[in-house]
Amino acid sequence: MKRETLAIHAGYDGDPITKAVAVPIYQTIAFEFDSAAHGAALFNLDVQGNIYTRIGNPTNAVLEKRVAALEGGVEALSVSSGMAAIHYSLVNIAEQGNNIVSLPQLYGATYTLLAHILPKQGIAGRFAASDSPADVEKLIDENTRAVFCESVGNPAGNVADIEGLAKVAHQHGVPLIVDNTVATPILFRPFEYGADVIVHSMTKFMGGHGTTLGGMIVDSGKFPWKDHADRYYMLTKPEPAYHDVVYTEQYGDAAYVARCRTVCQRNTGSTLAPLNGFLLLQGIETMALRVERHVANARKVAEFLRSHKQVAWVNYAGFADSPLYAMAQRYLGDARPSLLTFGVKGGFEPGVKCFDAMKLFKRMVNMGDAKSLSCHPASTTHRQLTPEEQLKAGVTPEMIRLSVGIEHIDDILADLDQALRASVA
Ligand SMILES: *Cc1c(COP(=O)(O)O)cnc(C)c1O
Repeated sequence: MKRETLAIHAGYDGDPITKAVAVPIYQTIAFEFDSAAHGAALFNLDVQGNIYTRIGNPTNAVLEKRVAALEGGVEALSVSSGMAAIHYSLVNIAEQGNNIVSLPQLYGATYTLLAHILPKQGIAGRFAASDSPADVEKLIDENTRAVFCESVGNPAGNVADIEGLAKVAHQHGVPLIVDNTVATPILFRPFEYGADVIVHSMTKFMGGHGTTLGGMIVDSGKFPWKDHADRYYMLTKPEPAYHDVVYTEQYGDAAYVARCRTVCQRNTGSTLAPLNGFLLLQGIETMALRVERHVANARKVAEFLRSHKQVAWVNYAGFADSPLYAMAQRYLGDARPSLLTFGVKGGFEPGVKCFDAMKLFKRMVNMGDAKSLSCHPASTTHRQLTPEEQLKAGVTPEMIRLSVGIEHIDDILADLDQALRASVA
């Protein structure tokens, strides 16, 4: 089935007992065992079933099947936030002495995880000099356990060369882990280009209404862990954290996610609340329609801004003269994400004036909401940096980032126009 259909139906065929059509919220911690033998079989992983919501929950299981189907993966694990998904996706296969090789520009918290937090646990984050697979390859050595990137970077909007990155990762026997949050499986499916694991912040376009944090880890089932059995011994050798189960034997293609669930999540507990799982399922049902409108509105906003006399520049991968254009065209076709940045003429002060004058656009640091959102990085997210550091992070004083919502385009453009006129008032 097509993505639009999977988003509404995958993973749920109605409740056999109650005949509930919507996915029920299983607001329960634990699940009853028929007998001691049944409990033992569940804990042995000999039979499938529910034990305790920290490990798995039937509402979340539907969400997991749905996102796995949307991405074309074999198995998925839902967690409490996008950051929890990224954290688990890495520590599931890396330990002290290892390193993760990444593209240079990342979502802020992901950058901090790789640059400051994992290194304290002996896992080094290595940042390539550029997005090119050749520069990534230079940093891979025998201790590398994964290559990491965002398919579309937040906030830079750069589109990663997934095919090229997968190729160099696989030549060195390591998986490519891709954060597909900004693109969503509606615009782009990284597994089709060789990615091995996909992570999501469902907080953004999947939930789509700015109400619910959630993360997802999806396994393509294709990475040959057993070909690199010593390097990925956590998956291929007896696991002491789960009475010596061998994940590749017990779970085959789904070994990676099974270990994420039964070792990382079971013992550190970044579990998605079932109510949040339900809310995210509601969001996903309309994701394809919303993304279509987000994309169409963003293109009109980009064109409007580019022709506006108060605007100095617009960074939007849909313009044929944008340095991002070719890579975006290759992986996204004609669609472009609804995240873009622009600069108000005159620097910091007019930039702030324009930002403060926005009425429809909400001032905040989220994206992927049905509502139009704006962010002025120099006075908020990047405030602590020196002007030089801001420039290095791609932030200029006049820059405004927009997450274009799904309101009527006339109202969106009218708000931007009055805000831009206010910048020179
Ligand atoms: C928001 C975001 C995250 C973090 O997700 P949370 O759900 O807020 O933890 C990770 N990656 C990208 C690209 C994001 O935009």
